[in-house]
Amino acid sequence: MRHHIEELERIGKILSPDSVQRATDIELISNFCSKFINDLEISNAYNAPNSLTGRLELNLNETCKLADILLELESSMIANGLNPASGGHLGYIPGGGIHTGALGDYLAAVTNQYAGVNFAGPGAVKIENELIRWMCDLMGYPKGSLGNLTSGGSTANLIAFVTAREARSISSIHFHQQCIYLTKQVHHCVHKAIRICGLKDAHTRFVEVDDQFKMRVDLLEKYILEDIASGLIPMMIVASAGTTDTGAVDPIYQIADIAEKYKIWFHIDAAYGGFFMLSDIDNSNGTKLKDLFKGIDRSDSLAIDPHKGLFLSYGLGAVLIKDVESLYKAHYYKAAYMQDTIRSNEELSPADLSIELTKHFRGMRLWLPLKYYGIRPFKALLEEKILLCRYFYSEIQKLGFEVGPYPELSVCIYRYVPEHQDINEFNEKLLMEVHQIGRIFITSTSIEGKYWLRLAVLSFRTHMNEIELLLDILKNAKEKVLMDY
Ligand SMILES: *Cc1c(COP(=O)(O)O)cnc(C)c1O
Repeated sequence: MRHHIEELERIGKILSPDSVQRATDIELISNFCSKFINDLEISNAYNAPNSLTGRLELNLNETCKLADILLELESSMIANGLNPASGGHLGYIPGGGIHTGALGDYLAAVTNQYAGVNFAGPGAVKIENELIRWMCDLMGYPKGSLGNLTSGGSTANLIAFVTAREARSISSIHFHQQCIYLTKQVHHCVHKAIRICGLKDAHTRFVEVDDQFKMRVDLLEKYILEDIASGLIPMMIVASAGTTDTGAVDPIYQIADIAEKYKIWFHIDAAYGGFFMLSDIDNSNGTKLKDLFKGIDRSDSLAIDPHKGLFLSYGLGAVLIKDVESLYKAHYYKAAYMQDTIRSNEELSPADLSIELTKHFRGMRLWLPLKYYGIRPFKALLEEKILLCRYFYSEIQKLGFEVGPYPELSVCIYRYVPEHQDINEFNEKLLMEVHQIGRIFITSTSIEGKYWLRLAVLSFRTHMNEIELLLDILKNAKEKVLMDY
């Protein structure tokens, strides 16, 4: 048996490379990444996807050279579809991928700290909770508030809704009496989270929006009163602080007044817009951009996405909860094999505040860059994005395009209205033309039957150059589509 064990050890040893091998591997990866980043200056943000049949497939009985694997990634993964790392990514809500964040992931993976339980990984847990406390503080939540680092905004919203449900001890026999208030402009993951947490049987009330796509507070109150009169229970209001379609921020302060008056759980989905709270930008009418968020501190829970607003690679959202005991009660479980992990007074364990137990030590990717650089460059880039969007909004009108509402944050909608052709069809063609070129990537949306092109500026690599490029592309594409008719 001893011989057999030694033989198995020998076979498995390849998974523990020595320092020479590690250095060789790292150099290959580092060169690959370096070339990838340098190429972003000139490479496309979008390439029509290629079929991957016969590629990137596993062959578990063979080994492969790392250099060959990287070549395969280059030919089959990079430059296939959207390149989210590109500064030319101006569609959906762009993410980021700051390099120091990637190094944070490397540190997290190599040290593999147990960030779920304070008893096991007090340093890692402290790092994660520090980040959450900072975000709570930024939102004006009181000391003692906490939350959880999630994989993204979808999970963050889900955790918040489960907490709202449990805080009011709402069980399935009560679901059909509950009312949830939101607008048609909420992100679809809000509906998904409502379904997953069982509240599909609750009444979803769509409160109409005004001409800036913001929730109409007068109607919100009207619906609440109607529901109370018919014996239903207003349970939760979901406001958006930066909608995905247009970047609109619902009137948070007035919604908070109503939530307080009728004792309704107030959740804010700030997945996209939340970090603009860091900005010091002035509006033309003498107000500050930050004023849009006034009253955000009066919410009960909030979702926010550092993988959007803080330019990190995908996989980092956060849920913030004012009453941490309700979050704890909704997620804490005991287990015999966990009996050594007593609740610490100093730090709550992320595992007691979320769906997950064992999880990626995802805080390191944010903690490292914040510790390294401080907040200043993040703030500057967020302000730059706002101004770039405003710049685009005014320049695109000079090219004869129609625009939606003035952008409150860094998203705006626009479309070309041709004299004789169908407007929606024309703009679809325009989008296809932009995709065909591929240097810059934009997306579209439909609001009440109207097809709009969207601009979403949030990549840390998007600067004036990319906006000018897009304006140029749109100008030429418009001429081309007009000619084609
Ligand atoms: C992106 C986004 C979400 C979803 O977040 P994920 O991180 O993609 O799960 C939710 N709400 C808004 C407003 C968003 O922009």
